[in-house]
Amino acid sequence: MGRLRLKFAFSPPLSNFSQNEFFMHKFLIALLILTTKFSFAQNANNLLLKNYKPVSIYKTPTANITKAAFPIIDMHSHDYVETQQEIDDWVKRMDKLNIQKITILTYSTGNGFDSAVEKYSHYPTRFTLWCGFDYAGYENPGWQKHAVEELERCYKKGARGVGELGDKGEGELYSKPTPGRGLHIDDPQMKPLLEKCAELHMPISIHVAEDEWMYENVDSTNDGLMNAATWHVDMNKPNKLGHDALIKSLENAVRDNPKTIFIACHLANTCSNLKMLGDLLDKYPNLYADIAARYGEIAPIPRYAAAFITKYQDRLVYGTDMGVDEKMYLTTFRILESTDEHFYDQDMFSYHWALYGLDLPKEVLEKLYHKNAEKIMSYK
Ligand SMILES: [Zn+2]
Repeated sequence: MGRLRLKFAFSPPLSNFSQNEFFMHKFLIALLILTTKFSFAQNANNLLLKNYKPVSIYKTPTANITKAAFPIIDMHSHDYVETQQEIDDWVKRMDKLNIQKITILTYSTGNGFDSAVEKYSHYPTRFTLWCGFDYAGYENPGWQKHAVEELERCYKKGARGVGELGDKGEGELYSKPTPGRGLHIDDPQMKPLLEKCAELHMPISIHVAEDEWMYENVDSTNDGLMNAATWHVDMNKPNKLGHDALIKSLENAVRDNPKTIFIACHLANTCSNLKMLGDLLDKYPNLYADIAARYGEIAPIPRYAAAFITKYQDRLVYGTDMGVDEKMYLTTFRILESTDEHFYDQDMFSYHWALYGLDLPKEVLEKLYHKNAEKIMSYK
């Protein structure tokens, strides 16, 4: 732009031009605009990271996976659709892709949970509904009595687990309609609920913290910048728990409630340091983790991620948490099953990283896809 302004600043008035000079002048301006535009398109210095959409040019073999290698139980999905027609279409897609069953984490109690049960009632063998916790009146002592009664009522209505609970530092805010502000999962007040879950054999699916990128400064050194900017966790709030403190709160609850099954959502948000989750899985047999919505984080480290999943093959479950599109499911299969290298899926993941297939062994895939979920669902 600077060059353009300079050119105009030094242009003499048109009235002094001959006709030839006038056309030559117009021609030069047109040429200048064209070359300026061309140099912008080619100038990497002006490219914003959010506009960086690389296209892999590698000519390497690619798998064409059209359905999952084994029947799938998706342990982390939500009530994404509105109409009966959309549910019918979802089930048709499930049949095509080899998805046997989907867990709808409703977050809800009360009317919200009841209407979700009603909504999916045409397919009782294809959808399992999990409820939230009811924190109504939690400012007052003894609130748990009502919360436990509501949990039992939801169980009788068909709830077979609890979730997705979620704590990003300010308490369990995912449950609807009343969030548990300030209540972390290891709060002694939560104990009656966690024990009731064990009694009813209802596993608890819980999201704690966010991955480490979201706590780092949003600057040029942030390895996961674009996603980190979207999901940045603001730690400038009093009494807010940070990443490690939240993982610790989960550990405390898992340790102190050995009869309750916990599923840490999104690999416990420890993708940049999976050993943190591995250490917990080593210590606590009542802890599992889902891999939902962390495909973009594990696909850039395929060898380490595959070794981790193989090591903890009895404790990890498949999940999506990314809508209902066929392409979404196929991308998860491609990442878990294929040996494809250096591909992108910028529609699904806002990182700018290339992805690699994990090439998981068949027996590991089978556990991840459905066997571990079956074990969790039928635990006594
Ligand atoms: Zn979720």
